[in-house]
Amino acid sequence: MAGLKLVHLYKRYENSGKKKIQNNYAVNDLNLECAQGEFMALLGPSGCGKTTTLRMIAGLEDITQGDIYIGDTRVNDLEPKDRHIGLAFEDYAMYPPLTVYDNIAFNLRAKKVDRKEIDRRVREIAPLMQVEDILDAMPVKLSGGQKQRVNIARAIIRRPELLLMDEPLSHLDGKARQAMRVEIKRLINEIKCTTVYVTHDQLEAMSLADRIAIINFGVLQQVGTPAEVYDNPVNEFVASFIGEPPMNIMETTIINRDGSFFFTFEGSDLNIQVPERYRGVVADGFKCKMGVRPMDLLIGGEGSMGTPERIATFENLGDERRIGIRVGDTLMMLITEDDRRYKSGDIIKLEVRGEKTHLFDLQTGDRIREK
Ligand code: ATP
Repeated sequence: MAGLKLVHLYKRYENSGKKKIQNNYAVNDLNLECAQGEFMALLGPSGCGKTTTLRMIAGLEDITQGDIYIGDTRVNDLEPKDRHIGLAFEDYAMYPPLTVYDNIAFNLRAKKVDRKEIDRRVREIAPLMQVEDILDAMPVKLSGGQKQRVNIARAIIRRPELLLMDEPLSHLDGKARQAMRVEIKRLINEIKCTTVYVTHDQLEAMSLADRIAIINFGVLQQVGTPAEVYDNPVNEFVASFIGEPPMNIMETTIINRDGSFFFTFEGSDLNIQVPERYRGVVADGFKCKMGVRPMDLLIGGEGSMGTPERIATFENLGDERRIGIRVGDTLMMLITEDDRRYKSGDIIKLEVRGEKTHLFDLQTGDRIREK
């Protein structure tokens, strides 16, 4: 097991033509370190450069500039087969004429590993990936989840220094996806292998990863634990990408009323107190964006001092309810466990956990830090 270090890594596709890649770089000055045994998720929207990064680490894509280290070895010029990596990509890439057993054993046979040793390793990994019962089956007979387990077994049987996974669950639907997520977590705990996991699904990244690297337009936005990127997003992009439903982010003008600061919103009576810690950075008339998570909006009870607001949308999702409230031309989402049957048009007293609000710069989208 080895750590991974990416140093000023760039990728420019010569044939990218008029594709809208910022500065023409699919990966733009990426610096990232994964500790030994760490599970790092690369998270971002489609086209942000996740797969390109993974393919450069694997040696399947040329590096335009920069260095990649696996452990202490600079691997830029090493062939993929000499990098000691295991690959599990989204397409299962199994050999249809071979049984599951032979598919799992394939790479070891190619390396001329002893037959008994191959058998020992296949039988060691099969229960771990819960494929013991299908070792004799042909790939065509397998479900998506089974194919995915075989795919991962093939990647880890080589005992890689580094496991690289690219959207391994993307072919699975809701329930199977969730079940497989739990299995991957269990597996990684057992094999304790440094892992880089590409996904565009923030929930997958949040539930699996030790740390998440969030990328947009080839540029790393933030690296942090799930709690760090959720509670302390560095900018509007990260704030809105992490969390479902996303953080409510709205333009605001801050006013000073009797010595206290409040967020105000055009076309709305809503006033939210600005946390004291921002006193040093705001002033009367200060314009920025305010962000607040849907679970930090509350429905006030009897005698609440909250602002009366009309419900615009109501969704009952079983264990939670989502309420939309119009604030100017934005729909502000609130999540509640309150099981009253609200409907559009009902009036509620809206309370906001002011201390949970974030401020973002209007132009750059960067989070404004308290002084
Ligand atoms: P997805 O989740 O959709 O695969 P991604 O974040 O993995 O997205 P990449 O596949 O790494 O993104 O693509 C990054 C950028 O590089 C995109 O703009 C893409 O169009 C471009 N790109 C990827 N492969 C090539 C290629 N072989 N030639 C030219 N441009 C490419």
